[in-house]
Amino acid sequence: MSPDVVVIGAGVSGLTTAVCLAEAGMSVRVDTDDPVGATTSAAAGAMWDPYLAEPSDTVERWSRVTLSELVALGIDEETGIRIVEGTQESRIPCAMPVWSGLVGGCLCAPENLRRGFVTGWRYRAPLVDMPRYLDYLARRLAKEGGSLRRHRYSALEQAMREAPVVVNCSGTGARQLANDPAVEAVRGQLVVVENPGIESFFCDGTPGAEELTYIYPHARTVVLGGTSDRGNWDPSPDEEATRRIVARCATVEPSIAGARILEQRVGLRPARTRIRLTEEHHQGRLLVHNYGHGGAGLTLSWGCAREVTERIRRVIAPAT
Ligand SMILES: Cc1cc2nc3c(=O)[nH]c(=O)nc-3n(C[C@H](O)[C@H](O)[C@H](O)COP(=O)(O)OP(=O)(O)OC[C@H]3O[C@@H](n4cnc5c(N)ncnc54)[C@H](O)[C@@H]3O)c2cc1C
Repeated sequence: MSPDVVVIGAGVSGLTTAVCLAEAGMSVRVDTDDPVGATTSAAAGAMWDPYLAEPSDTVERWSRVTLSELVALGIDEETGIRIVEGTQESRIPCAMPVWSGLVGGCLCAPENLRRGFVTGWRYRAPLVDMPRYLDYLARRLAKEGGSLRRHRYSALEQAMREAPVVVNCSGTGARQLANDPAVEAVRGQLVVVENPGIESFFCDGTPGAEELTYIYPHARTVVLGGTSDRGNWDPSPDEEATRRIVARCATVEPSIAGARILEQRVGLRPARTRIRLTEEHHQGRLLVHNYGHGGAGLTLSWGCAREVTERIRRVIAPAT
């Protein structure tokens, strides 16, 4: 039997959307080219951090919705989410971001800043072990009767023959699949090391910094970042980039220098000038796009998924 909805993509956008739709009572199948563990989402750091995404008014709303979902889910260890305290620090004076109030942000005393940093702020936010979290989402979807299938589409029309409603969460794949040249890969690499005892996260928030530096401690591992390379579609890790990431992070947190490297991860952030969350009607069928989240796909996931669900509900079950 064909499902009510086919969701293309099993990254954080696709799986979260599928969970929302299934929990709203629809039968859902997720079709994905890559296995869940090989998506960009599985490679991410990942923290709730609403940076650099447009349109800014809706991004703020989607980020807020996601923050409260992730905080609530963080109570259950099985989700892979923990609420972690840490600092964002800058090498030049700058103000706290507008969203700092949402995460209890307060300025650091100058004597508590790391060497070389002149300002900083401390806050608590969701830190997500992405491979575990994606597994949790897939289990939650299965519990509602949703299914997951390995399948690659070469055109959206093919998917629209499979179900009356299709949601396109194909990340960078949308460049080809939706014939959208506005989608570009921003390659990101990070390094996973054994945790030498780090409990707080650190992020270099220096405006205009040439390189990314962040340290995200999970229970047994630490994720070290990172790189941001626009237009680079190479999915394989670069040893030199790994060496530089570890060296940068060890400058801030010396215990990292001797930590054993467990993994190098690469993902292609689906960048677009504006996130595409729009709907189209084709011969009685509904196509909703949900892609282009750049470096903030986790941060926006629940907000976008709920909006997609509302739009679909309005069309297939109009209020009487
Ligand atoms: C190193 C790194 C660190 C990051 N850190 C953070 C962070 O701290 N916080 C944050 O919020 N975000 C972070 N991001 C960004 C975040 O990872 C992305 O925004 C997010 O993963 C995008 O998710 P997605 O589901 O839209 O796309 P993806 O995860 O790329 O999933 C796309 C899915 O579509 C499928 N697909 C594509 N084309 C087709 C096709 N033709 N047919 C069938 N299936 C198809 C793929 O197989 C895949 O399943 C980071 C990214 C990287 C690379």
